[in-house]
Amino acid sequence: MIDLNKVLFKYENSNSQPFQLKIDELKIPTGSKIFIHGPSGSGKTTFLEILGGVLLPQSGQVKILNTDFMKTSARQRDAFRADHIGFIFQNFNLISYLSVQENILLPCFFSKSSKQPHPKIPIWIEKLGLQNFLQTSVSQLSHGQQQRVALLRALAASPEIILADEPTSALDSQLRDVFMNALLELINEEKKTLLFVSHDESLQKYFDQSIDIRKYSATSGET
Ligand code: ADP
Ligand code: MG
Repeated sequence: MIDLNKVLFKYENSNSQPFQLKIDELKIPTGSKIFIHGPSGSGKTTFLEILGGVLLPQSGQVKILNTDFMKTSARQRDAFRADHIGFIFQNFNLISYLSVQENILLPCFFSKSSKQPHPKIPIWIEKLGLQNFLQTSVSQLSHGQQQRVALLRALAASPEIILADEPTSALDSQLRDVFMNALLELINEEKKTLLFVSHDESLQKYFDQSIDIRKYSATSGET
């Protein structure tokens, strides 16, 4: 369960038109599959980063799986993310000096309980065409290949919540379908929660709810 209450977020270093997200109340039950859309700059990444504990609002309550982020340190949120959240960052955030395999398995080592990788990981590696690159440094991969590594890394430790920030932007339609199937297989098998940002309206059919982020975002001048 994700539970947001009276959340107000602003970027501290903001320029002339400060951006803010304001969410009075939002409850997302476990097992929800939510498609998040809105134009570039409307706050989609900011929203996911608040849910993932990367960003902390100035006020309000952010409760994720009964953990109150407002009462945690950045280090505690990092540990929480490793244990419970698969985050596919828009810019991937891969560890450039590690190999493809090491990047994919990273969440399994970071999580407190040293989780086993999901049993389907080797199959998904093949389907996404990464089997010949396992020992390659991710810095030598193309953009699309790096995105596939980021996708598998988010699924590796079977997290309860998956936050995906435009995860298919660099994939052709065939790889996109392979990834969506892998993602939904994981989500559906154990009632996991998925929040998925995309510009690709054709993906909306996979989801049971959608949020237009403009509902929550504004530059301060407008409010
Ligand atoms: P989206 O993902 O929908 O494209 P973002 O959440 O990345 O939008 O950005 C929302 C707004 O916040 C934009 O106006 C952007 O310029 C601003 N913004 C994003 N990151 C920062 C930052 N680190 N510091 C200041 N402003 C930022
Ligand atoms: Mg974004």
